[in-house]
Amino acid sequence: MADKKILALIDELEKNKTLSDNDFLFLLSQLKHADEETENYLYTKADTVRRKTYGIDVYLRGLIEFTNHCKNDCYYCGIRRSNTNVSRYRLTKDEILDCCKTGYEIGYRTFVLQGGEDAYYTDEKVCDLITAIKKQFSDCALTLSIGEKSYESYKKYYDAGADRYLLRHETADPEHYRRLHPEELSGEFRKNCLYQLKEIGYQVGCGIMVGSPGQTDLHILKDLRFMQELQPHMIGIGPFIPSAGTPMHDQPAGTLEDTLHLLSILRLMFPQVLLPATTALGTIHPTGRELGIKAGANVVMPNLSPTGVRDKYLLYDGKICTGDKAEECRHCMEGRMKRNGYQVVVSRGDYPETR
Ligand code: SAH
Repeated sequence: MADKKILALIDELEKNKTLSDNDFLFLLSQLKHADEETENYLYTKADTVRRKTYGIDVYLRGLIEFTNHCKNDCYYCGIRRSNTNVSRYRLTKDEILDCCKTGYEIGYRTFVLQGGEDAYYTDEKVCDLITAIKKQFSDCALTLSIGEKSYESYKKYYDAGADRYLLRHETADPEHYRRLHPEELSGEFRKNCLYQLKEIGYQVGCGIMVGSPGQTDLHILKDLRFMQELQPHMIGIGPFIPSAGTPMHDQPAGTLEDTLHLLSILRLMFPQVLLPATTALGTIHPTGRELGIKAGANVVMPNLSPTGVRDKYLLYDGKICTGDKAEECRHCMEGRMKRNGYQVVVSRGDYPETR
């Protein structure tokens, strides 16, 4: 029997797009042992809300992992600088443009350049890359996900034509941030980057790993409050998955259920937000991404990186699709969505008010 109090809180969240601190904490704690009826109530409500803005459309983002060199040493991340087992690579400008060309031909209209924080890619090189991509694919959106930079650098990339920026804040709580990152990194600095990106005019995405080591419901509450303050256009969440060669290799992974619950909560709080069902979610469960879409997500980010480097961009263990070609990923995704009553669309997939 579903608990009426929880169902009432879900209704209230849909109506007011927020709850009191106590009610959020109560909801998060109760959802951990919710029955199927309660879960379905939450997922269906979130799906109904996403359909009001996006119908059954699912936006595609072609992810190009162009460098796995990183100067940072985040305790959870497989490509941290101290992980000596990683075979490091960088794609050349031509290789990246080739990825975009392949992607364009199979219907991608957004490219995401993601990488470690790699000093080889100076602002000049990044801007040159942005200019070349936007010149050749002028009807496409370009998203950067290359970490923390100065205001000036972000401005240069924007002026060169970058449209969006993904920078997960990872956790809004300073102590939890410290548990996940070495001394030289600061959560406050990272949050400030997001405000700067927004001020410059980017569509911005923040986000967290669900079930990262030491994460509590109170931390998640702080994340939700931070998101309410930032008002991001995109929110990237996926389960934490341990990675060999990191200090957190023996920590438990985040769960499918916790991630789905949070996706639905975010959809109810931010009806129009662009919300990916991530590769990490597809890694911990064979149909994790489909379940994510049914729980309120509306974006998927198939891999466009060349097959030769895919198994080198391992942020965590067991990452899926490392052997597939771009075309295979695209068609696989189309089928997965179709079988569940959704459709992938050929579109830039902008945030509604910026279309
Ligand atoms: N260097 C860029 C891109 C980071 S990789 C940046 O700083 O933003 C993108 C995201 O992968 C990270 O923000 C993190 O949330 C996630 N990630 C890293 N390691 C992970 C792990 N072990 N499990 C799940 N997600 C992970």
